[in-house]
Amino acid sequence: MSGDPRLDLLAFGAHPDDIELGCGGLLAKCSRAGRAVGVVDLTLGEGASRGSVAERQAEAAESAALLGLTVRENLRLPDLHLEDTLANREAVAEVIRRYRADLVLVCSPQDRHPDHAAASSFVTHGAFLARLPKIVTASPPHAPVAVLYYLIHENLQPSFVVDISDVWEVKRAAVACYRSQFDQPMPPGYRFVGTADYHAATAARAGFWGAQIQVAQGEAYLTARPLRLDDPVGVLLQQARGGGA
Ligand SMILES: [Zn+2]
Repeated sequence: MSGDPRLDLLAFGAHPDDIELGCGGLLAKCSRAGRAVGVVDLTLGEGASRGSVAERQAEAAESAALLGLTVRENLRLPDLHLEDTLANREAVAEVIRRYRADLVLVCSPQDRHPDHAAASSFVTHGAFLARLPKIVTASPPHAPVAVLYYLIHENLQPSFVVDISDVWEVKRAAVACYRSQFDQPMPPGYRFVGTADYHAATAARAGFWGAQIQVAQGEAYLTARPLRLDDPVGVLLQQARGGGA
């Protein structure tokens, strides 16, 4: 057995800063609740239009401390060249096994960035392979409970929205760690591939999803299959009385 910690949640991001934008609120909320939360960035972000790898690594470490992550590591796959290959699926399966991760998070399969869509696909398949005894990697098989998909750019109908109002300032600060990405002027004539102001866009998205569930800030998630609810009446009544779910 490895000396690596067991994780309740393991979030994969194609690039350093993806998990902050997509699921930073849920990660902060879970670490505050005492759950073991880890992040695997799939690339170093060397293909980005702004910022060096060293800057982004320092920013990722700063954000990890704010989010209360137990571990954050990088698989150093090639930025801008992510593909759903067997090798990548097995690399994901191995890291899920090594941390015995219960819940796996990754960006939604529909995202305008090709790396995000590819990552979603091979992380999903890697999570499946992780349980199969005849897929041999360095660590023994482990079956995660579910894969949850976070939204970075798209406006898809979510399966559920998490109230992140109580950790919104943590998420905002974690995103703000990426000064090389969000606070640097673009070269003259450069056309923005994302948005000119990520801070405003992140706040707007959190407010939009929060408004769907009558809270100040929210984060939207997709699941591949329906979530099981044994007591929907109890959950709804508890929320109506202000107790959360
Ligand atoms: Zn990204």
